[in-house]
Amino acid sequence: MTLPETPTLTKGLFITIHDHGHIASLLQNWPDKDIRAVCVTDGERILGLGDLGCNGMGIPVGKLALYTACGGVPPQQCLPVLLDVGTDNEALLQDPLYIGLRHKRVRGQAYDDLLDEFMKAVSDRYGMDCLIQFEDFANINAFRLLSKYRNMYCTFNDDIQGTAAVAVAGLLAALRITKSKMCDHTIVFQGAGEAAMGIAELITMAMEKEGLSKEDSLKKIWMVDSKGLIVKGRDHLTQEKERFAHEHPPMKSLEDVVRKLKPTALIGVAAVAGAFSEQIIRDMASFNQHPIIFALSNPTSKAECTAEQCYTFTEGRGIFASGSPFDPVTLPDGRTFYPGQGNNAYIFPGIGLGVTACSICHITEDIFLVVAEALAHLVTEKDLAEGRLYPPLSSIREVSLMLAVKIVEYAYEHNIATLRPEPSDKEAHVRSLVYTTAYDDFSADSYCWPEGSMRLQSCKL
Ligand code: NAD
Repeated sequence: MTLPETPTLTKGLFITIHDHGHIASLLQNWPDKDIRAVCVTDGERILGLGDLGCNGMGIPVGKLALYTACGGVPPQQCLPVLLDVGTDNEALLQDPLYIGLRHKRVRGQAYDDLLDEFMKAVSDRYGMDCLIQFEDFANINAFRLLSKYRNMYCTFNDDIQGTAAVAVAGLLAALRITKSKMCDHTIVFQGAGEAAMGIAELITMAMEKEGLSKEDSLKKIWMVDSKGLIVKGRDHLTQEKERFAHEHPPMKSLEDVVRKLKPTALIGVAAVAGAFSEQIIRDMASFNQHPIIFALSNPTSKAECTAEQCYTFTEGRGIFASGSPFDPVTLPDGRTFYPGQGNNAYIFPGIGLGVTACSICHITEDIFLVVAEALAHLVTEKDLAEGRLYPPLSSIREVSLMLAVKIVEYAYEHNIATLRPEPSDKEAHVRSLVYTTAYDDFSADSYCWPEGSMRLQSCKL
């Protein structure tokens, strides 16, 4: 039997822990041969929903759909993968309709061996420049897998690095309003997980680029987790948190932290709904002309504050961005603000397009700063005046294309692109790769189609 050429019926590839030793053969079964981008999850921390095991397949499928819809990466070049290592979700284990393995998550050496084999099998089959995006892995695996593989394969973790780029883009746009530099700011994070660590790391890179030392830039960033302010000597400090632990007496509440540290920017990434109380927002407005308040937790019900609360309690001076969408807010004085949504979809499709367009083999951290700067640059003065820190989502295809072009230019300048010969016109090269669903010209004189037929095809923008 011949398998279909395009994944019309197939949704994604499930690889289980019991397939160890056979992953290369499993990949041979995938009908498309020219895969350029893989999105993989093990389903352990899906959005804010937790361990969904095999039911997490919707995430790689959905992310790669956005590669195509927002970035123009051809769908047949995308492969969604779910690594089924079991689940610790008791409800799923008891559910007779659950499609995954019915045992607890396998951890330790067996898990690591599966991941090692997977990374190698993908790169052997599709090339060292095949992009592998990690999505929704739990903290315990996300950080260590990123540091293990980042210099070996073409890979990035969207929850850490994609989030970092979109949040830093928002901050860079905000700096155009405050007329300040990144290193002028003191930033407090509510939350110290994947999003916070990624954003903080990229902020320090932006500060270093402005001339501040790494050590001094780390001092500008403070974090609060479920145990309170992260300070030196506190317990429950992971290696990642240790970097942002400063000499300071312990403090429990965010309200006290804000009063004491008087930050210029507050970033919420702990999924604690309403954590930015009226008092906190008013305090931020009392020591800043333009307090930067990012309520990035998703979904909307988990946001640290609403757009309306931010604009109202700061009398329209707050610079706001959120993770989930908020409607425009009109204050009693008639001014209307359009809150920016720091959606990762501004970043990863452009990264997918740019990295695959010039065959980068290792995605360096600089690339995330390059795209953050490029995204901030695409925000117009009119957008800023209306409170928007991101370009309109309706322009996402053009935004992704521009980010991809920046990546390609950067990659050739820094000798990390492996595609040869180097395209002389980088933008034309990227445009030539973009997939669209535009119909061919149906005018009578252009083509004679068989009666009743229609054709959708990939064509140039
Ligand atoms: P995570 O699980 O890695 O981290 C959550 C962090 O919150 C942990 O450090 C935890 O200690 C901390 N926390 C929990 N309860 C707390 C409390 N009461 N007070 C202070 N800190 C507390 O999750 P993550 O990937 O970092 O994501 C966090 C949130 O950010 C989610 O809601 C996610 O949807 C959102 N997010 C938004 C974007 C975006 O808008 N572009 C991107 C990524 C993540």
